[in-house]
Amino acid sequence: MTSFMLKGSLDFLSEKHKAELSKQLKAWTTVMPHQLAVWLGIEHSEALAVLSVLEAQGLCEMKLLIYHNCEPEVPVGAIPYGKGFPNLPWTCPNCDKSIDNYDELSFDLMAEFKQPIEIV
Ligand SMILES: [Zn+2]
Repeated sequence: MTSFMLKGSLDFLSEKHKAELSKQLKAWTTVMPHQLAVWLGIEHSEALAVLSVLEAQGLCEMKLLIYHNCEPEVPVGAIPYGKGFPNLPWTCPNCDKSIDNYDELSFDLMAEFKQPIEIV
């Protein structure tokens, strides 16, 4: 277990938030910003800020999840976040369709934690 001291930029997290976050991160190795927002009762943008800080500390890796119209609820691909969007044409691994328009795709973010961490 790695203990992690949150820096000033995340002062909006209360002790209760930190305890809840630590608890959830013991059970989950992947976290999506909207899940985090629900767990802690914070804004989506705040959840993104939390994950960005954790990533900057090397505690998690952010992935860009790729969704295609053929299976809107399940991500069909994932690439490291920060490298932009996939190059077009992009072949959907689920339906093998060659996609040349971002309108057919949607995106979300996911943080992958390498080890359980405790926020203190
Ligand atoms: Zn597809």
